[in-house]
Amino acid sequence: MAEYQQYFGETHRMVRETVRKFVEREIKPYVEEWEEQGEFPRGLYRKAGDAGILSIGYPEEYGGSGGDIFVKIASSEELMRCGSGGIVAGLGSLDISIPHILALGTDEQKSRFVPPVLKGDRISALGITEPDAGSDVANIRTRAVVKGDHYVVNGSKMFITSGARADQLTCAVRTGSEGFKGISLLVIEADTPGYAVSSKLRKMGWWTSDTAQIFFDDCQIPRENLLGQEGQGFYGIMENFQHERLQLAVMANMTAQMALEESLKYSTQREAFGRSLTGFQVTRHKLADMATLVEASREFVYRVAAKIGAGENQVKEISMAKNFSCMVSDKATYDAVQLHGGAGYMRESLVERLYRDNRILSIGGGTQEIMKEIIAKMMLS
Ligand SMILES: Cc1cc2nc3c(=O)[nH]c(=O)nc-3n(C[C@H](O)[C@H](O)[C@H](O)COP(=O)(O)OP(=O)(O)OC[C@H]3O[C@@H](n4cnc5c(N)ncnc54)[C@H](O)[C@@H]3O)c2cc1C
Repeated sequence: MAEYQQYFGETHRMVRETVRKFVEREIKPYVEEWEEQGEFPRGLYRKAGDAGILSIGYPEEYGGSGGDIFVKIASSEELMRCGSGGIVAGLGSLDISIPHILALGTDEQKSRFVPPVLKGDRISALGITEPDAGSDVANIRTRAVVKGDHYVVNGSKMFITSGARADQLTCAVRTGSEGFKGISLLVIEADTPGYAVSSKLRKMGWWTSDTAQIFFDDCQIPRENLLGQEGQGFYGIMENFQHERLQLAVMANMTAQMALEESLKYSTQREAFGRSLTGFQVTRHKLADMATLVEASREFVYRVAAKIGAGENQVKEISMAKNFSCMVSDKATYDAVQLHGGAGYMRESLVERLYRDNRILSIGGGTQEIMKEIIAKMMLS
């Protein structure tokens, strides 16, 4: 990607190379099989850990390989090339659950909870959403009450990525009064008595990622598993959402990019009425629109990422970027299926999966409507 030299250099090229090889060797040959089975093997975490994929972008003192914000972007883009959003989401559940520990945790907590996850020995997930509170994070009900050296936790979490297999959950709980000030973050380990997991939830897309509901019935969690101070949880969650939204925007852009590439290939090969589909102006214009939108979206997301990397507050801009990239991927995947005709509706075609997997991107990590609320609030305040 020579045209993006201001963002990517030699280190990023090497990261891309490593991830690309891993995807070609360890994922691509098995994607169809895992998609149909509805999960990828747990051993893939270990393989990704051994190949150094999971530790990209994390601090070296906790087992990471360091790097700027663009190493993570380079890695995510190449992982997306496997063509299964579910694998990227499942392998990537650490990216939405470990940053809180790094931001708020003590050295002891970081040393305990981070390195085993980066090695792929343990699976980490994020537990915020509940059956009665999704967008309205400040309204969560899972309660943690101090009893001696422990918190006693009761409640449940909904739609948790990697929830069925996670060994540890970075979990939002209510330790105080109603509202956002009463929320704290606890690391809850899955082998705690009273911790139970639903069977995997069946989904429209992301088939290979396990998504589950988790129940806490008088779970005793050591007080030393509290991240930061009591009442600091909401801020920790909101801070990390910026990174999650960036990841989702990158996923959306890659989804759109692949939809474009597949459409270019297919419309060049496929003939109708004695000419290739690209012989119709309507097709050429569709491809031109797709390419234009993908280009604009990618550049916008990179620009916002660079500013986040430089420490600038980009809450409004990352919300815009997430919405814009999802709008682009919604349109690109819809148009790609349309261009493929009946073949685009068949499981054999990549665009069929891109279309399904894409749908979650404008819901997870903050819905399109919540992004607009944030943008409007920040513009009008
Ligand atoms: C596959 C998948 C994986 C997920 N993984 C995780 C995970 O790992 N961890 C986790 O904690 N959560 C996870 N989630 C949950 C996800 O973050 C929530 O689904 C999302 O935040 C929306 O919450 P909700 O589903 O409760 O919808 P609701 O909040 O009930 O929203 C329903 C609709 O109302 C709209 N709405 C709500 N409030 C407003 C408002 N103020 N103004 C305008 N419109 C509004 C929403 O935009 C949406 O269209 C996952 C979800 C899915 C489907």
